[in-house]
Amino acid sequence: MSWTNYHSHYKYCDGVDDIDHHVQKAMELRLKSFGFSSHSPVHFENKWSMDSKDLSTYLEEIDHVKTQYAGQIEIYKSLEIDYFPEKSGLIQNFQRDLHLDYTLGSIHFVDVFEDGQPWEIDGPQLVFEKGLQEIFGNDIEKALRRYFEITIHMLEHDCPTILGHVDKIKMQNHNKFFFDEQSSWYKDYLSQALEVAAQAGTIVEVNTRGLYKKRASETYPGNFGLQRLKELKVPICLNSDSHHPREIIGEYENTALLLKELGFRELMVLKDNVWIARPFGEKGVSWK
Ligand SMILES: [Zn+2]
Ligand SMILES: [Zn+2]
Repeated sequence: MSWTNYHSHYKYCDGVDDIDHHVQKAMELRLKSFGFSSHSPVHFENKWSMDSKDLSTYLEEIDHVKTQYAGQIEIYKSLEIDYFPEKSGLIQNFQRDLHLDYTLGSIHFVDVFEDGQPWEIDGPQLVFEKGLQEIFGNDIEKALRRYFEITIHMLEHDCPTILGHVDKIKMQNHNKFFFDEQSSWYKDYLSQALEVAAQAGTIVEVNTRGLYKKRASETYPGNFGLQRLKELKVPICLNSDSHHPREIIGEYENTALLLKELGFRELMVLKDNVWIARPFGEKGVSWK
């Protein structure tokens, strides 16, 4: 049994440490297949995205460890790409131009402030509150509708291989201050996005970062979303969204147990450059 992770960051964005430390730790943790997905450069000043001047070094480093560790662990090259409806096509362009092995598409920004600065929805609560007020007149339902609308736009117009943390916006709701996650309108928006994901044929990640960072009480997506994915027969993969080598399989065991309880039997893995479904248990994916 072995684990996989296709959502990881290291020092070129807001992740830390050298690529070698990540790969060595991944091997120590018995990973057979591991993908790097640093935050892609964006068209505005943003402290946690990769600087475009680092992009070629980042790609070269991954190519280097691919060869260096061949036969011990499969290394894959990707980016976590931000989606902006007005820049649709970027995900496919990145994949083609940079020869990425797969793409991970995520929503971290929703619309813009008056000065043109995109609203970051998974940053500090103060920034979240500012955007909610200035862009959406404090109407949380409207803001969430827009968040899921952009998600759907990405799936329909520039579909990534993997849909990243589909309901990450709920991290702002950790103290249950903004909205009721059990309300029918919220479930409907999330459900619609997952239905489009099913039609689009993307893999939806089960992201454990909120759990080990203690920013969410459930994975992204949580139980309701997972049940919908099961009903819709959407292929899933397990990702930690690690930013440090110690986070590479954070909360995997508990999450795998939960997925089994919910009736999932297989996880998608990238093996010899091909996505395949493999059975799994609490100790990992059956690799053979
Ligand atoms: Zn992300
Ligand atoms: Zn990430």
